[in-house]
Amino acid sequence: MMQLEPVFKTDKWPILIAGPCSAETEEQLIQTARGLADMKIDLFRSGVWKPRTRPNAFEGVGEQALPWLQRVQKEFGFKVCTEVANTAHVDMCLKAGIDVLWIGARTTVNPFSVQEIANALTGTNIPVLVKNPVSPDLSLWLGAIERLYNAGIKKIAVVHRGFSTLEKTRYRNKPQWEIALELKRHLPDIQLIVDPSHICGNKENLQHISQKALDLNYDGIMLETHIDPENAWSDAEQQVKPLQFKNIIDSLILRNKFSKDLAFLENLKQLRTQIDQIDIDLIHLLSDRMLISEHIACLKKENNISIFQHERWNEVISHSIEEAQKVGLSEAFVHKLLNAIHEESINHQDIVMNIQKKDRNI
Ligand code: PEP
Ligand code: MN
Repeated sequence: MMQLEPVFKTDKWPILIAGPCSAETEEQLIQTARGLADMKIDLFRSGVWKPRTRPNAFEGVGEQALPWLQRVQKEFGFKVCTEVANTAHVDMCLKAGIDVLWIGARTTVNPFSVQEIANALTGTNIPVLVKNPVSPDLSLWLGAIERLYNAGIKKIAVVHRGFSTLEKTRYRNKPQWEIALELKRHLPDIQLIVDPSHICGNKENLQHISQKALDLNYDGIMLETHIDPENAWSDAEQQVKPLQFKNIIDSLILRNKFSKDLAFLENLKQLRTQIDQIDIDLIHLLSDRMLISEHIACLKKENNISIFQHERWNEVISHSIEEAQKVGLSEAFVHKLLNAIHEESINHQDIVMNIQKKDRNI
């Protein structure tokens, strides 16, 4: 079990990180920091080296921005952080006294790069934020944390910025909250920050995603903030002005994590008991369903019929979706659920049809 140390004060909630996507000019960086001066932010962010998906986009001004970040530290008292992707970046940041480093989504995905950074950090105790990898792969995310930890870095927090998907969604990067929550289950002490800017790719949903993250007990929020978002050199659509940042943060409802109210606790307990019972009933229902599938498989085997029949499967899906709509379940959810059931059912049928009785383990 990793013994991680907090990157941020544990008595402040939510932790706030703001600053532009990229450092563009000294003036832009200082003006943005000035706009944030009255906000109690815990960290000022700004990319210096920008990993762009396609070439010919603005790739950051590089090393020359490090003294600008030092000015932000001195003039506004902010701690500053920037993204590192290789040894050279790490060395320059350490020399410049950058307070916190972050590993970007396109780097977390690559164990060679993460290991290179971890090696370069050996012997330091600088805090590191690890963004989720672009692909929805919890192991890569955990692996990056382990590589840093094994290099002696104890102050590690994570940033959830959503995942790339082929399917078109309303998000720039689909949140897939369950992956971040699963990471938190593995590492309960790690501080989890949401990055609504890269999840949304626009300004409109930032408030909603921030609120949702707080409702899921995230520890903090990172929002890209720019003095003149319309003219930003990167991620212009999703950056907000310092005042908009303030408005979003002020609008958030901080719900209590615990309550001592006995009536509430009793009520909650009863409802949770009902949920637990329903979950058990569901498992038994599913098991009954699998038994019927196995019977069908026996019949198919006797009659030499293939496992999968398209028309039948389409029928199952459309019946269920029709029923689900009547009771307020979303089509997407029913699809996911049926696909999972179908996969399990095919496995059960495959075992009946193709695996000798003695080798079965179901
Ligand atoms: C960023 O934070 O500006 C950035 C490049 O993020 P990500 O690595 O999440 O794409
Ligand atoms: Mn960005």
